[in-house]
Parts: sequence; C-alpha cells; structure tokens
Amino acid sequence: MKNYKIAVLKGDGIGPEIVNEAIKVLDVTAEKCGFTVEYEETLLGGCAIDAAGVPLPEETVAKCKAADSTLLGAVGGPKWDTMPGNLRPEKGLLGIRAALGLFANLRPARIFESLRDASPLRADIIGGSLDIMVVRELTGGIYFGERGRLEENGVKAAYDTEKYSVPEIERIARIAFDLAMKRGKKVCSVDKANVLESSRLWRETVTEIAKDYPEVELSYMYVDNCAMQLVRNPSQFDVVLTSNIFGDILSDEASMISGSIGMLASASLGESGSGLYEPIHGSAPDIAGKNIANPLATILSVAMMLKYSLGQPEAADMIERAVSEVLTEVRTPDIWVEGFRKVSCTEMGDEVCARLSK
Ligand code: NAD
Repeated sequence: MKNYKIAVLKGDGIGPEIVNEAIKVLDVTAEKCGFTVEYEETLLGGCAIDAAGVPLPEETVAKCKAADSTLLGAVGGPKWDTMPGNLRPEKGLLGIRAALGLFANLRPARIFESLRDASPLRADIIGGSLDIMVVRELTGGIYFGERGRLEENGVKAAYDTEKYSVPEIERIARIAFDLAMKRGKKVCSVDKANVLESSRLWRETVTEIAKDYPEVELSYMYVDNCAMQLVRNPSQFDVVLTSNIFGDILSDEASMISGSIGMLASASLGESGSGLYEPIHGSAPDIAGKNIANPLATILSVAMMLKYSLGQPEAADMIERAVSEVLTEVRTPDIWVEGFRKVSCTEMGDEVCARLSK
C-alpha cells in the first residue's frame, strides 16, 4: 500500500484548528482510496520563535525536504508584531519557500455553485461556471531584482529592476501548460509587452514552450486589460500565467471573485514536485481558539496536494465533491446565511468526512 510522508506546519492563530480538520479529512480519504499517510509535525512562524528562538528552525527545513509534501496552516499574530524584521513569523514563511526552491504559486479562484451569492460579482457576469487557476512566478522579477537609492543633482531617487531569464520563464510556463492539459486546455499569458522589454522576452519564451503543447490554446493579454477582464468576463479564463508582481495583484483580484477568504487554497511548487500547500488567508488572531474558523481552504489545499504532488487525482476530486455537497447544507460563521445550519470548525471537518464516508 502506498504511504506518503507529509510535513505538517500548523503555525499560529487558527493554524492548528484548520490543519487538524484537514488531516482528519485526508485520513478518511486515504482509507477510502487505499493509501496511508504519515505526519511529521514541525514548527514555523511564531510558535517556532517561542520554542526555538527563530521563525524557521533548521530541523523544519530538513523535515520538509524529507517529506513527500508539506501542509501549512498560517503564521503570525500580534504577539510577534514588535519583533525585529528577521525574527518575524513571516520571515519563516519566505524562508521555507526559498529553502524548498518553490518558484511557482498556484492560486485557484473558483465559485462553488451554492456560494454564488457570496461573490461580489453579479450572477450574469459570473456566467455558467468559474474556475480560474492563476500561475504566478514566485522567485524572480522585480521583487528580487537589483534595487537601490541614489541622488541625481541633489534629488533623491530609487529604483527596482524587473529581470527574467529564459530558463526562469520556461520552467513557470511548463507548469502552466502542464496544468492546462489537466484542466480546460487554455493558457492566457499576462504581461506588459507593449512597454516592458522583460515582458517581450516573456512572451517570446512562452510562445516557444507552447509549441510542445499543441492541444493547449495560448492567448496573450496585457495586465491592465486582464485586471479589467477578470471582473468583466471572468469565465473566459482557464489558466492565467504571469510574473511575480503581476501575479501578486491578479491572484488577489481573481480570488476575491469567489467571495470568501476562508475558501481559498493555494500551492507552491518547485523542481522536486513535492510542494507546499496552504490556505491563502492568515492566522486570523481575532477568531483563534474559538473553533469558528472555516477549515475549507485548508481542506481544499489538501485536495490540491493530492492532485499536484501525490498523484492521487481521484482522491482530490472526492474531497472537492464532498466540500461542494457540504456547502449546500452547512456553513461556518464567515459564510453563513439564513437557511443553512451554522457549524463550528470541527463540525465542518466532520461534515466533510461524513460525505466522504458515504
Ligand atoms: P487574516 O487572513 O488572518 O484575516 C483577515 C480576516 O479574515 C479576519 O477577520 C479573519 O478572522 C478572517 N479569516 C481569515 N481566515 C479565516 C477563516 N479560515 N475562517 C474564517 N475567517 C477567516 O489576515 P490579517 O488579519 O491581515 O493577518 C493576521 C495575521 O496573519 C498577521 O500576523 C499576518 O501577518 C498573518 N498572515 C499570515 C499569512 C500566512 O501565514 N500565509 C498570510 C496572511 C497574513
């Protein structure tokens, strides 16, 4: 029987609550699908600062590298807000992504049928169905390029540089095309090629990679138009491929179409394919310890892990179906509306498990 080793970083705030529910769901799924999962819990963020004096202990990196995949809750909270920059929980987050060489960030923006009303967009704009995957380059571009300050004729100035190499563009493009092959077979590459030289190289390189994927329909869009199209006609998109800075902005815009932060999963992938899976929301200190957090983003992150790192796409589909069914009856307080049964974080986990066991 196939056995998977998962490194578990519960983190801070609601992190432990939501990760516990995701583990519960993964265990039931594993039993149903005939594989086993072993968990190696380790520290990241504020809890690591408290226990080991640093946000990312070396042991954490070693355990994540040794695992088949990593599941993360969330880090941070007011307790650590006054710590110096290199001792902040968020440093641990950036550190683990770098240590694992994660260069691709996958952010699905999807509307579950029963949550249509939660979207800020009108039903006629959303159209039939909405399932977008934003693929953002994570380790290059302007966030990592040369930067500095200078003084020109007594006037202060500052600069940041957007730079991408062909191999950097090729590897993120392949991730996007491979994903498209498993989805709607469409890639929209988003850039600013009318102005930026780095975007022109991006476009040329993506065009070359597309030749290896004749079944995938490739289109290009300028980033300003894409920002507009996401709220004008979002269902035209399948996979959106873009650079670090454009992806940072567009993935937040796309995800908000779904209406609730507690529903949004994400994955970060590197060369090894093992990946890091986490909800997009933070540690929600305002509701931590109250057993009212929505665990579905973390549960859906586990579904992504099964699909993209563990080679268990049927298991992933089972979880997504169970989540979809659950939403027709029960809701955690963040997405609750009249007519649905209000449930706690642990009850929501139980409800998903119950649908899986049927
Ligand atoms: P947040 O995402 O933690 O919370 C924003 C709002 O959404 C809060 O009202 C919260 O209660 C609600 N919320 C978030 N997740 C929810 C869930 N699963 N169920 C129900 N409601 C939910 O963002 P914030 O308040 O800006 O940040 C809080 C802390 O989290 C900060 O320390 C921040 O640095 C950290 N943070 C961590 C990550 C991460 O670990 N990836 C990401 C963002 C923020």
